[in-house]
Amino acid sequence: MAAITMNNIIKKYGDGFPAVNDVSLDIADGEFMILVGPSGCGKSTLLRMIVGLEDITSGEMLIGGERVNEKAPRDRNLAMVFQNYALYPHLTVYENIAFPLRLQKTSDTEVKERVNQAAELLELTEHLERKPANLSGGQRQRVAMGRAIVRNAQAFLFDEPLSNLDAKLRGQMRTEISRLQKRLGITTVYVTHDQVEAMTLGDRVAVLRKGLLQQVASPRELYENPVNLFVAGFIGSPPMNFIPATVGEDALHTPFGDVTLPESRSVDLAGKDVVLLGARPESFEDAAVVSDTVRDHGLTFDANIDVIEWLGNEQYAYVPYDAPEDIRNQLAELERELDSEAMRTQLVVSLDATSRIEEASVSALWLDLRKVHVFDPSTGENLT
Ligand code: ATP
Repeated sequence: MAAITMNNIIKKYGDGFPAVNDVSLDIADGEFMILVGPSGCGKSTLLRMIVGLEDITSGEMLIGGERVNEKAPRDRNLAMVFQNYALYPHLTVYENIAFPLRLQKTSDTEVKERVNQAAELLELTEHLERKPANLSGGQRQRVAMGRAIVRNAQAFLFDEPLSNLDAKLRGQMRTEISRLQKRLGITTVYVTHDQVEAMTLGDRVAVLRKGLLQQVASPRELYENPVNLFVAGFIGSPPMNFIPATVGEDALHTPFGDVTLPESRSVDLAGKDVVLLGARPESFEDAAVVSDTVRDHGLTFDANIDVIEWLGNEQYAYVPYDAPEDIRNQLAELERELDSEAMRTQLVVSLDATSRIEEASVSALWLDLRKVHVFDPSTGENLT
């Protein structure tokens, strides 16, 4: 096992815009690191540079403290698990797992010992004589991992391994990968564009946008303290709401009323005309159930509830509203890039399943101001 260190990594294809732009990232020995971001952000390129399938334009890549920039993929001792698992269809599970050992001309006795050990760890013992075609997707994935285990790879690298699976199987596989990684304690780098995978699998998550590293943090930290609008809009489902607010003398004017931020959320607004208030859907409540003791910490307002989606354990209320045109344009641009509905001029509010608020009604909602974020729309920076 080994730590992976990237120092100021740049990748340019031809003389174009860098696909990976000055990325520095430390992945600890045994850590599960997720690389996440929208299509084209550079996450696969970064992974391919770790494996050695792509040259590094500048910067330094270290594995186990050793510079690997000039090392061929086969000398890096890493195990890449591809989307299709790259299993040999004509070989049994046993021979698929044994494959790297056969290449190394390992003795039959040792092959047997190591394959059996890996199979036990991966609960594949009873399937060793089967061919890949007769395995479930999950079992195939484990065979691919078995192959990496027998040759004591220094790290596992996954490139969107679950993206071809249906939602249910994807959920099962996610749990399985997480469990195995914990059991094996092997350094793992996992590329995905799926923020649910990112949030549930990783010890830490590195969020990329246009080749630039935006934030590296634990899932909880990303969710609770996103550094900018991009991360805030990308992580979380339904996404964070961004409410435009003009900066007044002693209050922020929003489409839902004037807001005075509590002490804990106060920011320096000198020189700013407009900010965006970031509020997670669950930071809202049905005002009818908010106790008097906490009511003063938030904003109570009448909302035009357009649509309600009842999900059994919770419900989402949609509240369309008008925002000034220039802000609308700015938000639409960010929305396109995020490929999300976060920037629509509608609130998405998560309500308790028991709330009696109805569709097509004007109902009182409450926003907990102790939980809002304040973003500078020109830089995207989270000011809170
Ligand atoms: P996706 O999720 O769509 O796979 P990604 O985040 O993994 O996207 P990369 O595949 O790393 O992104 O690509 C990053 C950028 O580099 C993109 O703009 C892409 O078009 C460009 N790129 C990738 N491979 C090449 C290549 N071989 N030649 C030229 N440009 C490339």
